[in-house]
Amino acid sequence: MLMNAADYRESLRRYNPRVFVNGKRIDSVADEPLLKPGIAGVGVSYDFAQLPQHAALMAARQGTSGKIVNRMLHIDESSTDLLYKLEAVRLVCQESGCAQRYLAHDALNGILQATKRCDDAHGTDYHQRFLAYLHRVQDEDLALGIAMTDAKGDRSKHPGEQANPDVYVHVKERRPDGIIIRGTKAIVTGAPYMHEFLVMPCRTMTKEDADFAVCCAVPVDAPGVTIVAKPAGRPGEAAAKFSAKYGQSVGVVIFDDVFVPHERVFLDGETEEGGYLTTSYATHHRHSCIGARAGFGDLLIGAGALMIEANGLDPDRHGHIRDSMVDLIKIVEGFFACGVAASVYCMKDASGSVMPDTVFANVGKLLMSTQIYDMHRLAHQVSGGLVVALPGPDEDHNPETAASLAAVLGGRANVPSAQRAEVARFMEDLTASHQAGWYSVISLHGGGSPEAMKREIWRNYPVTDRVALVERLLDRDVLDRGQRVSKQPGRCCATGCEVPELPAAAE
Ligand SMILES: Cc1cc2nc3c(=O)[nH]c(=O)nc-3n(C[C@H](O)[C@H](O)[C@H](O)COP(=O)(O)OP(=O)(O)OC[C@H]3O[C@@H](n4cnc5c(N)ncnc54)[C@H](O)[C@@H]3O)c2cc1C
Repeated sequence: MLMNAADYRESLRRYNPRVFVNGKRIDSVADEPLLKPGIAGVGVSYDFAQLPQHAALMAARQGTSGKIVNRMLHIDESSTDLLYKLEAVRLVCQESGCAQRYLAHDALNGILQATKRCDDAHGTDYHQRFLAYLHRVQDEDLALGIAMTDAKGDRSKHPGEQANPDVYVHVKERRPDGIIIRGTKAIVTGAPYMHEFLVMPCRTMTKEDADFAVCCAVPVDAPGVTIVAKPAGRPGEAAAKFSAKYGQSVGVVIFDDVFVPHERVFLDGETEEGGYLTTSYATHHRHSCIGARAGFGDLLIGAGALMIEANGLDPDRHGHIRDSMVDLIKIVEGFFACGVAASVYCMKDASGSVMPDTVFANVGKLLMSTQIYDMHRLAHQVSGGLVVALPGPDEDHNPETAASLAAVLGGRANVPSAQRAEVARFMEDLTASHQAGWYSVISLHGGGSPEAMKREIWRNYPVTDRVALVERLLDRDVLDRGQRVSKQPGRCCATGCEVPELPAAAE
């Protein structure tokens, strides 16, 4: 059954995870003020699925069960599903900055593909196990933390070569009824207030790394799990106009000999499929990141327009202000358009699901991850220095300074100075606070560092087709076109799995 935000918060009381924040053990996650903005952010994804105006985007029919599920837990079956998911992620992130749950969508879709591929190659039975798990997660409308990024230790070494094997999560022991895992996942968004973790490998592996190629589901309070997390957003800070209400915690998750029964294990030692899971999850996730940061861009565009108005300026009359706003819009809608293209040119998978086009998903994420810094610059450009220079909220009530500050820190006559101050603090929160840094770094590294995207773009882009085009134009059709493989090495097939139909000519 679909939960709302209040149900979700209450449901956290059924769990008793071992959580530390700022060096202190948390007694009750549901009641902890330091985690409140994160629970509220995740709550948006629950509440919006129940609002009639958002239901079409935020809920979907699951093909394998016929049931209505939250979009954030749905398996995509068509390019329309991908477009709706993209829009849904933008919607929840407009409201919350980051609602976390699209990571679960991306992991569930990636695991579905990898388990099917593994069963087809090795005769295992992971896919049916996973489908049973998926349906339970959807029926109970769970929040899933994505435990993929290992601590990794020395980056130049493979998992099996590390001095301390616990910098990667690995299988320590195989028992008749399940496996024992240990190791560390270093960055898990929303970790303290999830119901379960999906543990997944974070890189391609060699045969020697088989014990590290593990994918499984673990309840947050399974014996041996410890979560060491940061506060969510900027709880309790009066100046934090947005992130005192919404913001995500990130946590280190330590697995100290955790038992996982077989029905919750979806890969165990299959290194090739482990690598495939990493890249298929990454493609889904980069597509979602595009939607997420478009929602963040919407907040900057809106706050920028309000700041300009409060400053007494008019973009129609002041060309450089309009240009900065148009540049901001160009960046946001430019990378979002790549998300749309990735949805339209999706590829069908043997599991029955669809995956966003790899090149467009990676190009969009790459544009977003580097241009996030330009987004902040443009927002600062139109706003002025007040966003960091404005005295703190305590001054608003200081009888000795409040009136004189209000008299001189106003802008346009019909915009109260208190309103200008509110927008300036909102802008500071999103672009110049430590929470603003969080949005920059998640944009840059979340879903993989820029190098990971560049590798995928180069691996998948049909450069040889472009070469053939130029050779033909040069009248040098020297290659055997019948045997040409049009993709880079490592690509599954020559043409892509779903070639879009050309529009029919008008009758
Ligand atoms: C706010 C935030 C939230 C996140 N949430 C989640 C989450 O919920 N779940 C999750 O699993 N992950 C999450 N991530 C992790 C994210 O996927 C990683 O940050 C990303 O994959 C990069 O890994 P890293 O941080 O370990 O950086 P590193 O891998 O250390 O990368 C640092 C730099 O070193 C380079 N580098 C690394 N290894 C090599 C190498 N072998 N050779 C050459 N260059 C190398 C990289 O290209 C990069 O430029 C989150 C990240 C952030 C910032």
